[in-house]
Formats: sequence, structure tokens, C-alpha cells
Amino acid sequence: MRDIAALSVSGQVVLLRADLNVPLDGPEITDDGRIRASLPTIRKLAGTGARVLICAHLGRPKGGSLAERMAGGPSLAPVAARLAELLGQPVPLAQDVVGESAAAVAAGLADGDVALLENVRFEPAETSKDDTERAALAARLAALASLYVGDGFGALHRKHASVYDLPELLPHAAGDLVLAELAVLRRLTGSPDRPYVVVLGGAKPSDKLPVISNLLGVADRLLIGGGMSYTFLAASGYEVGKSLLEADKIDEVRAVMAEAGRRGVQIVLPVDLVGAVEFGPDAEHAVFPVTAFPADRESLDMGPATRALFAGQLADARTVFWNGPVGVFEFPAFSAGTRAVAEAIAAVDGFTVVGGGDSAAAVRRLGIAEDSFSHISTGGGASLEFLEGATLPGVAALETDS
Ligand code: ADP
Ligand code: MG
Repeated sequence: MRDIAALSVSGQVVLLRADLNVPLDGPEITDDGRIRASLPTIRKLAGTGARVLICAHLGRPKGGSLAERMAGGPSLAPVAARLAELLGQPVPLAQDVVGESAAAVAAGLADGDVALLENVRFEPAETSKDDTERAALAARLAALASLYVGDGFGALHRKHASVYDLPELLPHAAGDLVLAELAVLRRLTGSPDRPYVVVLGGAKPSDKLPVISNLLGVADRLLIGGGMSYTFLAASGYEVGKSLLEADKIDEVRAVMAEAGRRGVQIVLPVDLVGAVEFGPDAEHAVFPVTAFPADRESLDMGPATRALFAGQLADARTVFWNGPVGVFEFPAFSAGTRAVAEAIAAVDGFTVVGGGDSAAAVRRLGIAEDSFSHISTGGGASLEFLEGATLPGVAALETDS
């Protein structure tokens, strides 16, 4: 994989695919970690006279057409503003991804300038399963620049136009963030010290189920909390009330649990839950054992017995990977589970990696020292797929020579 030094960037428009997918509360950026992590590569390119045209996505815009998506947002405007502040130079934002505005912004760049294209996921073709549709968008992106740098680690597991199809069309290199992330994560796929414990949380099992079955060949223990744990609890026969549940995944979850049993991999689930009367920061709540969870409550966090159980399962770990908050940590009243997990991992004597935009944000939001982990990765899904041994589409694309 080539690095930036292999390209002659001075005076050239460099299309930089970055991961600026930050958590938002309305128009407010609640954690700018991914923007900060992208700064060294942006500064290096601009500092060597490149005309830096950044392409990035934000959230999951809804709607079938470009117009619907642009109307619904989210726009990258708050990201452009924050990036300008951190860089100390203007960062104009094109009003579209590959339209007239994008072309004008690209043409207006001087050496050392930095500009941003609008949310690339406004273009439905970015995430299309149809190769021809993606290729057409990639060609329009390629027409804006003469070189490509891939530095969006958190998107490398996506077979998307700007990640997978575009590098082929321009001389390309990997950015410093991608190279650093890959170097750290390789330590997890070699021969990790054991016990190797993986903690998984987050919102939905459907995001992570395929990964979980592959992790059974890697980890010794899987601790499952957060939004995804309720489908596991339901699959084990427990009432989960109005908690997040993907009923159509129960069979798949049962299959994963059976496979774990055959392989001798422990799957550890919550034994008690914090049940709230509704989803909200001030919702009235109480702790219930999983054997007696009320049908009219929604779990937003794990309970104290589970915090102790998870901490115990982490105490002797020598390698840990954690992705996904185990509760709605954004609400302080429901952040105790995520704090307990973060603190237990911080105390581990071994190699510990936290991955994912929201997980990294949780660590910072809860005030846990970032250096108490071996590595905080900008990528959640990308890290998970890497450590299960998959070749990431974006890595494969950057590895080709052209
Ligand atoms: P990451 O960005 O680290 O990969 P995810 O995006 O998978 O993590 O999940 C993060 C989200 O999961 C958080 O916004 C958090 O509020 C949510 N979440 C965690 N536990 C629950 C729960 N019990 N109910 C609802 N949402 C949850
Ligand atoms: Mg997330």
C-alpha cells in the first residue's frame, strides 16, 4: 500500500476520502474526534502544496433521489465549520457532491487550500449495490481531481463508490490515519494474548450479526450488551418488554449462540437491566433481573449485577476489543453500564482497543483518559471486520497499483 510520499501532490487537486462522520445532536457536533483524527493528513497534503478536496459522508440520508436526500440532510456544513476552526483556514463547502458547485469549488482551489464536497451519501449511487451506478458516480468524482488519497478508515469496510470504485480511476495512496489504524489492528489478527475478550454493544444486532459469527473463531469470550443484547435475551426466552428488539433476527441469533457453544466460546449476556418507562433523558427507571423484566418497560442500560459480571469477565483479559456503547450513554442517567465497561477495559493489563465513532465519543464524554487504552480506533464496523479477518473493500482498492 503506497503512502502519500509516493505521490507528487504539489499543485494537484487531491481528492481526499476522509471519515468525518461525527455524532450530531441537531446541528451540534457532540464529539469531533474523527475530524481531529483526519487533521494530520489534511495538514500534510495542504502543507506540501496540494489543493485538497475532501469527500466524506455524514449519517444515513433517507430518500430515493438526490433532491430528497439533500432536502432531508444532514449537510456537512457543521463539519466544514469545525474543520475550518481546527485548521485555522477557510474550508468552503460545495453545495453538491459532483454537480456544478463541486466543479466550481474544485476549480477555485489554490495550492494549500482545503474544501469539502457535500455529504457524498446525498448521491444514492454512493451506496448502490449496482456496480454500474457506483462506477458512474466514481467517474464524476474522479473528474474533479487528479489524485486520490484514502484516509477514511471508518468507511473502508464499505463497498461504496468513493471508497471502493474511485481509487481505481486515479493514482492513489493511503493516508496516514489509515496506515496507523491498520498497523495497530494487525496486532489483533496475529496471535493475540489470551484470554481475548470482545465486548459488543450498540443499537442493532443486524449491523453486527455477520461479524459475530466470524468472531467466534477469534475471541475466547463475547460480552454482549446494549441495544443488541435484547435480541439475544429474547432468543434465550426472556421478556424484554419494549426494548430494542429485532424479532426477525432471533433465529439467526439462536444459531450464533449454538455455534458458540460448539466452539467453546462463552457468550455473556446481561443478568439485569435498567428499565425505563419511556425513551428519554429523564425517564423514570428501575433495575430488574432479566427473569422479571416488565412488558411495558424499555431497557436503556444494563444493571449493577451485569456491570459487575462484565467487569469480572474482563479482569483476566490480555487482549480486548470493544465496539458499541452498552446503554444510551448520551443520557447521563443511563451511562453507568458504558462507564463500567470502559473502566474495566481501562484497568486491563494487556492490549486494549476501542473502536467506533460512538464508543470513542463515549470514552471522551465519560471523561476516561484516552491513554488508558492501547488504541482508540476511529472505525467501529471497519475494525470489527478487519479483526475477523475479512479483506476490507477499501483496503483492497488502495492496494491495487495505478
Ligand atoms: P459505534 O459508533 O461505536 O460503532 P453504534 O453506532 O453501533 O456504536 O451504537 C451506538 C448507539 O447505540 C449509541 O447512540 C447508543 O445510544 C445506542 N445504544 C446503546 N445501548 C442502547 C440501548 N439499550 N437502547 C437503545 N440504544 C442503545
Ligand atoms: Mg455509531
